[in-house]
Amino acid sequence: MKKVLIIGGGVAGSTAAYMLKNKNYDVTILDENSIPGGLARTCYYAGHPYEFGPHIWFWPGGVENPINKLIVDLTDGELFYIDRKLFSYIHQDKKKYRYPVHFNEIPDMPEKDKIYDELKAVRDDNWKLKEEKLPTIGQCTFEEYFATAIGKTLYGKFMENYTHKMWNIPGHTLQTSMVWADRFNHAYSKDKEGKTGLEGYDPLKFEDHTLGKGIRFQIYPKKGWNDVWGTMAEGCNWVRDGVVSIRDEDKQPYLLTKSGEKYYFGDYKYVINTIDLDDLYGENKLNYTGRMMIPLLLPDLGTAFPQGAESLHYSGAEFQTRVTEMKVITQHDSPDSLILIEVPILPGAANVFPKNTVGFAKENNLFAEKAYPQQSKEAMSMHRAYMDRSKKIPNLHHTGRHAEFRYWGMPETVNSAYNLGLSLE
Ligand SMILES: Cc1cc2nc3c(=O)[nH]c(=O)nc-3n(C[C@H](O)[C@H](O)[C@H](O)COP(=O)(O)OP(=O)(O)OC[C@H]3O[C@@H](n4cnc5c(N)ncnc54)[C@H](O)[C@@H]3O)c2cc1C
Repeated sequence: MKKVLIIGGGVAGSTAAYMLKNKNYDVTILDENSIPGGLARTCYYAGHPYEFGPHIWFWPGGVENPINKLIVDLTDGELFYIDRKLFSYIHQDKKKYRYPVHFNEIPDMPEKDKIYDELKAVRDDNWKLKEEKLPTIGQCTFEEYFATAIGKTLYGKFMENYTHKMWNIPGHTLQTSMVWADRFNHAYSKDKEGKTGLEGYDPLKFEDHTLGKGIRFQIYPKKGWNDVWGTMAEGCNWVRDGVVSIRDEDKQPYLLTKSGEKYYFGDYKYVINTIDLDDLYGENKLNYTGRMMIPLLLPDLGTAFPQGAESLHYSGAEFQTRVTEMKVITQHDSPDSLILIEVPILPGAANVFPKNTVGFAKENNLFAEKAYPQQSKEAMSMHRAYMDRSKKIPNLHHTGRHAEFRYWGMPETVNSAYNLGLSLE
């Protein structure tokens, strides 16, 4: 039987395992965790299911799309269809507003006259964006695009601080690959002229907007995510161990693990890497932002948030980014409410908290020091250099949000691993 080694058994690793075991490979998964699913494992706090972040799957194409179909098959169609309503809390206004920014709420904002003037500078009489005024997504920074499209005042109020703390990088150096529109660029089919329909993407909303509106397949599994990743990895050999680095990369390359085991690349038909490339090489060079999730159980509160909101964004420089009410997603039936407070941290943060709390948080998926890639131009070129370097090992492949250094959700990640699995004979 042909052998495959998969490094990391999260979303990407489990999907790759599923594809290759179905092609009769003998699959070994190496992961420092005890169960599959990585950041997308479902955990429980006082009986309430929660995720590291909301973990709603949204991907265009309905149930006919192959990767959506995979999720339907692996859950027996037991899914909640979700509407994602978000708000931003703006402390200087002492007010919450819808997020993304809704045009009909501008009259409630103290700076409304200035905001209208800034919008008029880039919009026609019907407030439609003039495309020629907009920088091109993919060729400009995050700040250039958003501060132009919604004006400096709205950008400053809703996005500037939020973006900086969210990804630990200021908007004027962040690349627009972090923008929703670009994230989905590859997912929408192009018309005859090669357009995706995302040109002139407008972050200002003129009608009631829920995140991912119009995407028919926007779901959360009724029993959480673990069965999905567990079924994918079922029958594979799961080894709980952490990767230290690749050694002897020019001669007889092997992977050294924390337990001292050596895995020679030559012993496998394929080695599929899903972890951060700087971790794979044991070099710690790329920049990331991590997350700490604080579970706050509010007894007897019923529902904490207004109007069915899933999350409140704290758009200033407060420590927290988002606060999510889990039962809005999981639909857990309880008189209590579980709120997840999401706080950005930096690599190394595990050293500043007491060991017992960090240990608990890691085991329960409440703490990840590398949750988001910091996509500056320099970081992206450094990542490309790692990809080039890894070509020295011809049977080594990379897939997933970490390995590919992308701002990807679960579906993009599954899609990448699914296509890799299809392509390997
Ligand atoms: C706060 C937050 C909210 C999110 N919300 C959503 C959402 O609503 N919808 C959505 O679709 N996506 C969401 N995502 C994205 C989603 O979590 C990722 O797309 C997905 O988890 C990426 O899968 P992966 O396999 O690339 O990485 P992971 O799931 O992180 O898996 C990596 C695996 O590798 C293992 N590993 C890492 N380092 C080593 C090592 N050195 N040795 C051995 N094993 C190692 C880990 O234990 C883990 O099992 C969110 C992410 C975050 C951070």
